[in-house]
Amino acid sequence: MTAVIEVRDLSKSFGSKNALNGVNFAIGEGEIFGFLGPSGSGKTTTINILTGQLLPDKGESLIFGKSSQDLAPEDLKRIGLVSEDSGFYEKMTLEKNLLFFSKFYGVKTVDVDAILERVGLLDSKKKVAEKLSTGMKQRMLLARALINRPSVLFLDEPTSGLDPSTSRGIHELLLELKAQGTSIFLTTHDMHEATLLCDHLALLNQGSLVEEGNPQALIQKYNTDKAVEVAYKDGHKERVPFEELSSLGHVEEILTIHSCEPTLEDIFIQLTGGKLNV
Ligand code: ADP
Ligand code: MG
Repeated sequence: MTAVIEVRDLSKSFGSKNALNGVNFAIGEGEIFGFLGPSGSGKTTTINILTGQLLPDKGESLIFGKSSQDLAPEDLKRIGLVSEDSGFYEKMTLEKNLLFFSKFYGVKTVDVDAILERVGLLDSKKKVAEKLSTGMKQRMLLARALINRPSVLFLDEPTSGLDPSTSRGIHELLLELKAQGTSIFLTTHDMHEATLLCDHLALLNQGSLVEEGNPQALIQKYNTDKAVEVAYKDGHKERVPFEELSSLGHVEEILTIHSCEPTLEDIFIQLTGGKLNV
């Protein structure tokens, strides 16, 4: 695996607050990496260090094999960032905003219509940015980040506060970008989103990684009491261990069988005692 992003023993404090304590991970080319952790666990701090906006106290952060602190303008053109404080000009239309940012990034030709189409905003291209709903603003930020065709895209909670159908649209777009080889670093506290999209996850709690791996592999690792929940037509339910499944009687009375594997939220609670989705 060629690592596009790598952090080694990354630590950062703000005064007496330890925001990151010796974090290590590597992200392969074309992967969607999910960085999961509750509010205040250090996700944005990690992105700020990786993108060269903040210096670590200790450790290394590398993009394209180069230290984040040494990124040249040419390297920055290969990076896209959608964060809480990326913005656009409120009084300009979406079209003008995208044209403005393409000049700013030194992108010579930009197909504004194609980009707006990708994020489902083509019909709104003459709309003034300040008139957009929250979901449209999120998609507009993503459109802005796509102008320079980044090979690495950082998304800091791209779907927080969005309705499920807008989130689904963004998920589809991320999968398309991945299929084209874009590496995506996604922070979220939506464990469902992470299970669905990510090739690789890291769970962060109070500045330390508590677990990492492929989502399905993690779920299987913590699926210790292997059992299914059987629901019967008369409304009653029972938990049946895997080894007793073959002796299950009254099959015609069964309505549904669900596996009882843990969710990422269950795993996080088991490891830390705290909730992920806060
Ligand atoms: P997350 O993005 O996971 O919500 P952050 O990386 O924003 O977490 O913050 C991690 C911790 O560091 C929090 O306790 C936060 O209050 C603190 N922190 C982040 N940035 C600063 C800063 N500029 N000054 C002081 N404390 C900060
Ligand atoms: Mg944050």
